[in-house]
Amino acid sequence: MLTLNNVQVVYDKVILVLRGMSMHVPEGKIVALLGNNGAGKTTTLKAVSGLLKSENGIVTEGTITYGDEPVSGREPEEIVKKGISQVMEGRRVFKHLSVEENLIAGAHTRKDRSALKEDMGRVYHYFPKLKVLSARTAGYLSGGEQQMLAIGRALMARPRLILLDEPSLGLAPLMVKEIFAIIKQINRESGTSMLVVEQNANVALSIADYGYIMENGRIVLEGDADTLRNNADVREFYLGISEGRHKSFREVKHYKRRKRWL
Ligand code: ATP
Repeated sequence: MLTLNNVQVVYDKVILVLRGMSMHVPEGKIVALLGNNGAGKTTTLKAVSGLLKSENGIVTEGTITYGDEPVSGREPEEIVKKGISQVMEGRRVFKHLSVEENLIAGAHTRKDRSALKEDMGRVYHYFPKLKVLSARTAGYLSGGEQQMLAIGRALMARPRLILLDEPSLGLAPLMVKEIFAIIKQINRESGTSMLVVEQNANVALSIADYGYIMENGRIVLEGDADTLRNNADVREFYLGISEGRHKSFREVKHYKRRKRWL
C-alpha cells in the first residue's frame, strides 16, 4: 500500500535527516516504526503526508509510492484526499471548538458531506467517551480524551491509511492500553492500515503485525512483531528487559558494541 524506497530528506538545504529510509506498509496491516529521539520517525511521517514543506524540508532522493502512484512532494490536502491521514504528535485538536465541531472539521476535504452523521456515528462507536463529551470544548478534555478526538478527527476523512505519531506520549498507562486497543479494533473492523510511530516499543509491538527500528535516519532492523519482541537487542535496548540482574560495566560495554546493527 505504502512504500518508501531509499528516501533522503534534507531540512533547510543542509540538515540531512533521512539517509536512505526504506519501509513498507501492506494493506490492512498495522506497522510499528520504533526508534529513539531524533531518529527521524516524525520526519518519515511528514515526508509521506506532505507536511515537510511547511518546515522547509524536502525529499531529495528516493521514492514514496501509495498504491502504484508516486506521492512525494504532494500537497498535504491532496494526500488526505487520496486516503492518508496523519494524527500528529501532541494531540493537536482545535481547543476552542467543541468535540463535535472538531470532528466536522476532520471531514473538510470530503465532498460528500451528506454522510457526515454516519461517519460521526462510526467515530462514536469506537470512542463512546467522545459521544458523551460531544458538546464539550475540546481544550477542557483530558490528554487521553484529546488523543481519542485527534484519532476520531482523522477517521472523519475516511482514510485507508492512518499515520499515528506517538499516540502514547504523556498518557497514563491505562489510557495508553485503552487507546491502543481501540486502534487495533479500528484496524480489525474497518481494515484501515496503520503506521504507528512510537518510543513505547512494548505497546506498539503488542498490536502491530510488523515492525521497523530506525536509527540515524535509516532502518536498522525489521521483522514480524513477535520476532522483534524476542530479539535480544530489541529486548535490551527498546523493551528495557534485561535477564533479571544488573550488568557489570564490562558487559554494558559489550552490549554497546553488539548494538551495531548494520
Ligand atoms: P522524536 O521522537 O523526538 O520526535 P523523531 O525520531 O520523530 O524524534 P524527528 O522529529 O524526525 O525525529 O527529527 C529527526 C532529526 O531532524 C532531529 O535531529 C531533528 O533535530 C531534525 N529536525 C526535525 N525537524 C526539523 C526542522 N524542521 N528543521 C531542521 N531540523 C529538523
